[in-house]
Amino acid sequence: MTKPARADDLQIAGLTRLSTCDWPGKLVATVFLQGCPLACTYCHNPDLLDPRAPGTIEWQVVRDLLAKRHGLLDGLVFSGGEPTRQAGLAAAMMEVRDLGFGVGLHTAGPYPKRFAEVLPLCHWVGLDIKAPERLYGAVTGVQSSASKAFACLRQALDSGVDLQVRTTVDPTIMSPDDVAGLTVTLRKLGVREHVLQQVRTEGTRPEFAARLKAISA
Ligand code: SF4
Repeated sequence: MTKPARADDLQIAGLTRLSTCDWPGKLVATVFLQGCPLACTYCHNPDLLDPRAPGTIEWQVVRDLLAKRHGLLDGLVFSGGEPTRQAGLAAAMMEVRDLGFGVGLHTAGPYPKRFAEVLPLCHWVGLDIKAPERLYGAVTGVQSSASKAFACLRQALDSGVDLQVRTTVDPTIMSPDDVAGLTVTLRKLGVREHVLQQVRTEGTRPEFAARLKAISA
């Protein structure tokens, strides 16, 4: 029989003890979970992608932090990497809620089944929709990621969760018309908050930084 996944099994690659920008309007701590199945052109966290890399921080450290931050933090954000990759996510979210904190989630939506499991535990979701469907594979390196991300978007909209949809605009792949078209598509689907983020070169792979520089020249 498979053992139920535990929060203590999470592979945690990083912890920010105080953030004012990971969940708009809230004071939070943020955990960065190891592993991501995508390979976005502009990824700033290539060290977080390998799912086999062990975590470097125990979940107990996060528990201890929250225990000391009652009244000082509004919540905990699960970020990555891709947090929905890890089976212990729901158990960790339940603990955070039981401790009286809000639960935020950053996801690119590559695992609709796990997303459905954790969605009822989230107070706020920041969901990346990375491109119009036809350009998705060019941004993420995985063509099937489009249908999965849009499936998660549908679930989030249907659930009524507080939702921010984010798109980091990669100008080496998306034209201004592509971005405008995506905004219209999202609005038609019912998205009320769509934030465009400018791509940055810090932390990205040198080939990407070079391509970006070439088109900006
Ligand atoms: S989803 Fe995020 S962590 Fe994963 S490859 Fe893309 S930018 Fe990197």
